[in-house]
Amino acid sequence: MKNLYLLGATGSIGQQVLEVIRGKTDFKIKSLSFHSNIALGRKIIAEFHPEYVSVGDLHNMLILKDEFPDVLFGYGEDGLMKAATYSNDGGYLVNAVVGSAGLKPTVAAIKKKRNVLLANKETLVMAGEIITRLVRASGVILLPIDSEHSAVFQCLKTGNNHEVARIILTASGGSLRNLSRDKLKKVGIKEALRHPNWQMGAKITIDSATMANKGLEVIEAHFLFGLGYEQIETVIHPESIVHSMVEFQDNSIMAQMSLPNMRIPIQYALYYPERVKNNFPQLRLETIQNLSFFPMNFERYPLLRMAYKAGRMNGIMPAVYNAANAAAVQLFLDGKISFLDIETIVETALNDIKNIENPSLEDILAVNKKVKGRILN
Ligand code: NAD
Ligand code: MG
Repeated sequence: MKNLYLLGATGSIGQQVLEVIRGKTDFKIKSLSFHSNIALGRKIIAEFHPEYVSVGDLHNMLILKDEFPDVLFGYGEDGLMKAATYSNDGGYLVNAVVGSAGLKPTVAAIKKKRNVLLANKETLVMAGEIITRLVRASGVILLPIDSEHSAVFQCLKTGNNHEVARIILTASGGSLRNLSRDKLKKVGIKEALRHPNWQMGAKITIDSATMANKGLEVIEAHFLFGLGYEQIETVIHPESIVHSMVEFQDNSIMAQMSLPNMRIPIQYALYYPERVKNNFPQLRLETIQNLSFFPMNFERYPLLRMAYKAGRMNGIMPAVYNAANAAAVQLFLDGKISFLDIETIVETALNDIKNIENPSLEDILAVNKKVKGRILN
């Protein structure tokens, strides 16, 4: 039996985590959090009987407290921290929160010697060095819940780390992949949110369209696998069947394939190191017939180029990239800026902020706040 502490239970990943464990006796949800979707949150509490629940604000907490007198409740940042560190039973933090809010709870859980199943890529992008150092010191397991990183993790098992030549992250190209840069000027919110292969939260769907998601994933991979940026490449693969690849020094490439279904990497992380049966649709390559791959175009996707730049600069620059992009995407989703303004905003932030080498967690959180504040106010 694995104890789970699930942050972001109402989100796209959180929901699929619950789907994977629904009806299984191998897992117990000890605590969970969600931000504002009280209608869905209420159903989840009734079904999974967590001991502790954190919600976004006091108002929603008081409503739920009345309905579930046996459950302990918290709210806001403090509640999220308590959900991540609830009880002393070890177990697994499943971090499926979107955005920088996921960083501090991850740090706190690792310090408590809790294993981490990480969908919240922002955690590693913002504080990759701190997190990997803490993971080593605490001796906990950190497993990715991201299709690309799960693929790389699985492929790496076929060789030794020092034999890796490069990893190749695949990118579908997102919702706007068939549009020229000229056409991108007039793209609306609805169009940008229509991803061809994956049903995901709004933020990551926009990031897929701008390729910032691949940028965040490049930085995530750098920290997760301890590889130099020159060893991390990206390729466009519209079918989203090959989730990523590892090339070893003997020129042999290992690829992990499946239908695009996040429940597969989620299940892999939840049951690791075991692989268990499921009833997901099977991949039949003879049905798909063709897989295609195209070189990445850094002119078309400047946000990917900027991510490599921020990653190589290291220090606080990945956090600056992440914060500026998050704030810009929020403005775009609020209808306040155009699609191409997102990249201009990120570029400006990267030029304006002076780097700090070996930043502390406080430095990182401060720059995150400062960059977002400048863009949003
Ligand atoms: P989502 O928007 O669907 O869900 C986000 C969850 O976080 C919700 O439960 C929401 O209640 C909670 N939340 C939002 N703001 C919060 C805040 N300020 N404080 C605390 N909780 C908050 O997002 P998602 O698509 O499920 O993505 C979650 C994370 O997983 C992101 O980091 C994303 O990059 C990553 N990821 C998602 C997918 C996917 O298929 N959706 C794939 C790979 C990685
Ligand atoms: Mg991904």
